[in-house]
Amino acid sequence: MREPKPYVLNSREVERATLEWLGKRGVTTKDIAELVHYLQSPYYPDLTLEECEHHVVAVLSKREVQNAVLTGIQLDMLAEEGKLLPPLQDMVKHDEALYGIDEVLALSIVNVYGSIGFTNFGYIDKQKPGILKKLNDKSNGVSHTFLDDIVGAIASSAASRMAHRKQGEKENDAGANG
Ligand code: MG
Repeated sequence: MREPKPYVLNSREVERATLEWLGKRGVTTKDIAELVHYLQSPYYPDLTLEECEHHVVAVLSKREVQNAVLTGIQLDMLAEEGKLLPPLQDMVKHDEALYGIDEVLALSIVNVYGSIGFTNFGYIDKQKPGILKKLNDKSNGVSHTFLDDIVGAIASSAASRMAHRKQGEKENDAGANG
């Protein structure tokens, strides 16, 4: 008898599926870049959307992030199809206020990028600009209980990544000139 093939992860496939499912759920890297711009333009007035998108793409290339995106989208879709166990089904479907696991999953993304990410995550969740407002619109039967927090977390992480890089650049410049 032949041994079953050992499980080997295809990282490229995970990355491809992440971008594909974000798109199918109505979220583009540009939408997330706009959130990063919203967070960071007060500090960097010349900040372009292209630069923001560059950091979003970098965050999305991390496996921890891809795992959270795929898990969250899957749970949202199962909730839409009524396939979760009760009472979880109703809690996720109705984005129940005290459920909170959607935020915890999203924090697994923010965790990768340090404490500035946490501050931004809380802030953007309260403000709900751009795509976050759309994802929170519950009038169309679509459920984004997990995805709204995940998108906020990706934006917060990209903002944090940018802040760290820019600080590094500043210090390098100071080093070169000093
Ligand atoms: Mg949520």
